[in-house]
Amino acid sequence: MVDANRFWSHAAPASNGCLEWAGATFGPGGYGAAWDGERTRGAHRVAYELTHGPIPDGLLVRHACDNRRCVKPEHLSVGTYADNARDCTERARKATGHHSPLAKLTDDQVAEIRALYATGKWTQRELGRRFSVTQARVWQIVHDRVRTAPSVRGVEFRPVGEATS
Ligand SMILES: [Zn+2]
Repeated sequence: MVDANRFWSHAAPASNGCLEWAGATFGPGGYGAAWDGERTRGAHRVAYELTHGPIPDGLLVRHACDNRRCVKPEHLSVGTYADNARDCTERARKATGHHSPLAKLTDDQVAEIRALYATGKWTQRELGRRFSVTQARVWQIVHDRVRTAPSVRGVEFRPVGEATS
């Protein structure tokens, strides 16, 4: 059995409104790790059980706050793996301000891609991963095939630097 008093003594209110687990975690940035008397479990799962009751089989305890160390009962709910995956995708989208791998890059990002590629330290594939675009898109960008001025859009440019890439 979990000793509830002992469990909650490891949780501390955080300025973001969460109640954060101050004990061990499952790795850096991981979930809180709590001893339930028999084994080490996710602190958020133990917190959920202490306050809401047993977690139904096969379900996850999810964080409304997206803070893995949070054990605040009000921030926890049960859901499926599919719920969790969908949430992660949506959060990632909001966090970056961009929408999908096909999202338009900003002018700054295009400039950054060109600058990084010009250093010779990055492959097009690596840049694609970093900016969430395809390698083909990076090729276009470093060869100046996209983002031409509207008046010349559609004109086929001779790729720049082709001989060296
Ligand atoms: Zn929280």
